[in-house]
Amino acid sequence: MANKRATIAAVHEQFGMPNPVFLTRESPNDTVIRWQGRQLVNFSAYNYLGLANHPKVVQAAKDALDSYGASASASRIVAGEIPLYAELEQRLAVMYDVDDAMVTTSGYLTNAGVIGFLLGSGDVAICDALIHRSVSSGVRWAGARQLTFRHNDPESLRSVLRMARGNFDRALVVLEGHYSMDGTIGRVAEIAQVAREFDCAVMVDEAHSFGVLGESGRGVREQAGLAGDAVDIWMGTLSKALGSCGGFVAGDADLIGAMKVCAPGVATLSGGPAPSTIGAALAALDILDREPQRLTRLWANAGLFHTLLTERGLDLGVSQGTPICPVLIPQELRVGYVASRLLQHGIYAGPISAPAVPPGGERVRFFLTSEHTTDQLHLAADQLADAVSAAEKLPDLGDAS
Ligand code: PMP
Repeated sequence: MANKRATIAAVHEQFGMPNPVFLTRESPNDTVIRWQGRQLVNFSAYNYLGLANHPKVVQAAKDALDSYGASASASRIVAGEIPLYAELEQRLAVMYDVDDAMVTTSGYLTNAGVIGFLLGSGDVAICDALIHRSVSSGVRWAGARQLTFRHNDPESLRSVLRMARGNFDRALVVLEGHYSMDGTIGRVAEIAQVAREFDCAVMVDEAHSFGVLGESGRGVREQAGLAGDAVDIWMGTLSKALGSCGGFVAGDADLIGAMKVCAPGVATLSGGPAPSTIGAALAALDILDREPQRLTRLWANAGLFHTLLTERGLDLGVSQGTPICPVLIPQELRVGYVASRLLQHGIYAGPISAPAVPPGGERVRFFLTSEHTTDQLHLAADQLADAVSAAEKLPDLGDAS
């Protein structure tokens, strides 16, 4: 983060360009946002289905606020339940084909808290190399060890397990359904199969997969045609496709039941989700069910955007044509320059540099939504190609860190 601030500040100073980091918008989170009185086409939000500002979602949040107040004010075990929690949990459990689910206040804390609760010293988490940082927080919280296998590579997992499984008591393999930095889809079936051979439990982070993958948006489980018990823990967030805020975990009834009464930070000793966030997520699920055309539009937009960028010779790394579209622009200052220049031309897309990606893997990341128009995609592709070619002509900018 220090690096990122230094990068952007340096670009800002060197070229007198606007700063895309911590940009203050003056309008709702939508495909077009207002900034300093100007309109920006927004590619920076994980608002895949355009639900964050959907009138029905906003109204449901208001209704929940009216019915149950602004805050849970304490953990559920202390302050009690509202019917909306159980309603959302039951729907999520059905969608993941499992017994039960638990909703939480934060996706990050769900990973950290669930892993912190489940593992202990003597245990190990074997994680995909691109796993989200919240998982590592949980491993540290648990006092367990973390090992890594090559991204999306079941054979790499097998080698790690062959070498190391015997050194640990319990083992949890953790991967994602849809990787947020690279736009790759997790090979859940193959990885879970290897994990099972070595007596490991499996957890899948569905943050960018739920509402995006699968014919009806039920995530990577639906896309891969897996039963709910193909893995042990399905974790997800309400903050991305569902346009709300919070997290969830879904799985076996005993596991979820134990977490509800014992898992600190994710269930106990931390306030329950604000009613408005759960109301909003429920309304978003209704729209997901009733308007499958949103998913169709999302994937059509993703396909078109990848085609437009590929035609313009841009480097999309290992991305697989999903609604997460990284454009690799190695070197921190160049990526900062490109993001700033895009901003000047009305396009908001976030620059990513170390430590979020390894040095050399700097990128501008575009999140497509169902609501982007074809014109907006063409405009962004043209502006991006211009910005990247201008950045390539800059003198060697060195490193801002
Ligand atoms: N997992 C992944 C893969 C994520 O990308 C994120 C957030 N970007 C989270 C978990 C945390 O979710 P939240 O923002 O809802 O806390």
